[in-house]
Amino acid sequence: MARLVMKFGGTSVADVARIRAAAKHVKRERDAGNEVAVVVSAMAGVTNQLVAWAGEIGAWSYGAEADAAGRESDVVVATGEQVTCGLMALALQALGVKARSWLAWQIPIVSDDAPGKARIESIAAQDLLAAMANGEVPVVPGFQGVTRGGRLTTLGRGGSDTSAVALAATLAADRCDIYTDVEGVYTSDPRVVAKARKLDKITYEEMLEMASVGAKVLQTRSVELAMKQGVRLQVRSSFSDAPGTLVVDEDEIVEKALVSGVAYSRDEAKITLSRVADRPGVAAAVFGPLAEANVNVDMIVQNVSADGKTTDLTFTVVKADLDRAVAILEARRKDLGFAGLIQDRNVVKVSVIGVGMRSHAGVAQRMFQALAEKGINIQAITTSEIKVSVLIAEEYTELAVRALHSVYGLDAD
Ligand code: ASP
Ligand code: MG
Repeated sequence: MARLVMKFGGTSVADVARIRAAAKHVKRERDAGNEVAVVVSAMAGVTNQLVAWAGEIGAWSYGAEADAAGRESDVVVATGEQVTCGLMALALQALGVKARSWLAWQIPIVSDDAPGKARIESIAAQDLLAAMANGEVPVVPGFQGVTRGGRLTTLGRGGSDTSAVALAATLAADRCDIYTDVEGVYTSDPRVVAKARKLDKITYEEMLEMASVGAKVLQTRSVELAMKQGVRLQVRSSFSDAPGTLVVDEDEIVEKALVSGVAYSRDEAKITLSRVADRPGVAAAVFGPLAEANVNVDMIVQNVSADGKTTDLTFTVVKADLDRAVAILEARRKDLGFAGLIQDRNVVKVSVIGVGMRSHAGVAQRMFQALAEKGINIQAITTSEIKVSVLIAEEYTELAVRALHSVYGLDAD
C-alpha cells in the first residue's frame, strides 16, 4: 500500500467526460489498495477567462502588487478550481469511491497575503489523514490558499502543481503523480525530433534546467519544492495507462546518462554593444540599469575589439524585454561610450542537459563539433554544472536540435 497525491491538470479535467476519465485513474489506485488525495486544476482555458473578466472590471493585472482589487480578483480566479473540485468528488462518488471536497479554508492551506502570487506557509494534515484512513478520497482545489485573516489567495499561474507537491510533502506521500496531456518528459520536443524518447527517470536538477530552457511540463516552483522536500514526482498522461517519467533524486538513478535532453528556447534576443570602453566598472554600468528595470540578462560574451582599447559586449535578454533594454541603453549611450548597438531577434538558445556532465569531460566539445559539422555558427555560449547552452541563428533550430539528439545517442531506434 502506498500513499499517493494525484494531481490533474486543466486538459485532464477539461469537461465532464475528461473528469470521469480522471476519476477512473483514482479508482484504479484505490482498488489497488492505495491511499489517495486528489488535487485538481481548473478546466483548460477557464483561468484565462476568469483573469480576463477580473481584469476588465478591476484595475489590477494578475500577479501585480497587492491591493484591494487584487484580493477580489483572486476570489474570482480561484473559482475555476472549486468547480472541478466539486465535479471530481461527484465523479468519484458516481464510481462508488468515497470522496469529499476540501477547499483551502476548510483544511486549511494557509498562505501569505500576496494575491496572485501567494506562497503556501502551512497545510494542516490531520483531517485529511483521518479521512484517508477512513477510506475516503479528499479532493482539493489546486492553486488556492487562505490567509491567516481568512481571505482567499491564488498561487500564481500553473500553481496547482505547487499545491500538489506541498500537499504530498505534508501528507508524507510516497509519490505525487502529475497527470497531464503528455506521456512524460521527453529527451527533446517530439514536434521537432521525431526520434525523441520518453525518459523513465530524470533528476530534479535536470528537470529544473529543462524547464528553464523551454520544456514546460511542470511549474518550476513545484520542482524546486519537490527537490527541497524530497517528494518523488511522476509526470504521466491521463489519456492513457502508460507509466510516465519519474522525477527523483540523483541517487535513485544508477545509469546516469551523459546527456538526458536537448532543449531549445526561441524566447531570447541578442544585443551587441561595439567598442565599449575597456575599463573597470563598464559591465556594472551596462548591466546595472537593466537589472534595475527588471530586465533579465542571460548569456554574456565580452571580447577585445580590433584596437585593443575597447571591447565588444554581446548578451541576451528575453525577447519581450528587447525594446525596453535597447531604449535603456540608448538613453545612456554617451555615458557608456559605445560606438554601435546591434539587436537581433533571429536567435535561438539550444541546450544540452545531463547530470553525467559533472563526472565526464568532453560534452561541450562534442556539441561544438556537431554544430560545426552542420556549418552552424555559435554566437554565444554559457555553461552550468549540468548544462551547456549555445546561441545560434533561429533558422538552424531543427537542424541543430536533431543533430545533437543523435550525437548524444538519444534517438529512439
Ligand atoms: N488554473 C491555474 C492556471 O491555469 C492553476 C493551474 O492550472 O496550475 O494557472
Ligand atoms: Mg498546469
